[in-house]
Amino acid sequence: MIMANIQWYPGHMNKAKNQLEDKLDLIDVIIEVLDARLPMSSKNPMISKLIANKAHIIILNKADLADAIKTKAWVKFFQKQGILVLPMDAQHSNNMSGLIKLIKIATKDKVDKIIAKGAKEPVIKVAIAGIPNCGKSTIINRLVGRNATIVGDKPGVTRGQNWLKTDTNIQILDTPGILWPKFDDRNIGLKLAACGAIKDSVFHADDVSIFVLKYLREQYLNLLVDFCKTSAEKIEKINDIDLLLAMTQLFGMRDDYERFSIFFLQRLRKGKIGRITFDLP
Ligand code: GDP
Repeated sequence: MIMANIQWYPGHMNKAKNQLEDKLDLIDVIIEVLDARLPMSSKNPMISKLIANKAHIIILNKADLADAIKTKAWVKFFQKQGILVLPMDAQHSNNMSGLIKLIKIATKDKVDKIIAKGAKEPVIKVAIAGIPNCGKSTIINRLVGRNATIVGDKPGVTRGQNWLKTDTNIQILDTPGILWPKFDDRNIGLKLAACGAIKDSVFHADDVSIFVLKYLREQYLNLLVDFCKTSAEKIEKINDIDLLLAMTQLFGMRDDYERFSIFFLQRLRKGKIGRITFDLP
């Protein structure tokens, strides 16, 4: 069940929206960072309207944890809408040339016009926005090439405010826009929780684990078979709750299914169960 501590959520969403709106005039390009495992569920429902007149790039970050085939399908999905989109693994790769190329494409008209008037190449101002923990700070650090912002592994650790210089004529707003996902739908909340995008206190770990087991059974049975070192037939025979209990025992935790659930979600979030995408295009 969604518990009481997310009732403050509409206030956060409005505050984040207002903060981004205030800065919009200063910004040439908005980079919207989505979690490649959840390109829909990690999307803020208001952003498209908010940035309607801005150059816009979508990064599908944490692509190393997502299902590569589904990521390709998501790239096509966004491209069909005329949106510039790039899958990324900001954690392990510091090659930002693909992103810089997209920023140049997104601002080409504006830059060409300025240069045509005889002025020198203008500075391009870029802001990064996305839900907590999607990798905004990591991407900023990669673009800037030094540890200029705080990177952490807990949702919502991003602070500070300045323009950060890069090796090119691009400057980055050092405070990423923190957007809030809309999870009035329980399934969206569970997907966000599974990927560590919302605080663990919002849901019980065993509820999230059962949700994940059900999903893996439907979409990634082979990964579940590998993780449990068992057969598909055995998994198919039992229901989700019994499967959770059986896995708890299998991993030597007797009947402590809560402890197992926390362990299971940690493995999942690190990609140790396999590359999994929770939103289907
Ligand atoms: P922010 O809250 O959006 O600024 O997110 P952070 O940049 O602080 O990243 C949150 C966590 O995700 C950190 O532990 C990062 O190391 C990790 N992370 C960021 N990008 C990636 C990625 O592409 N792949 C993986 N596996 N982890 C990432």
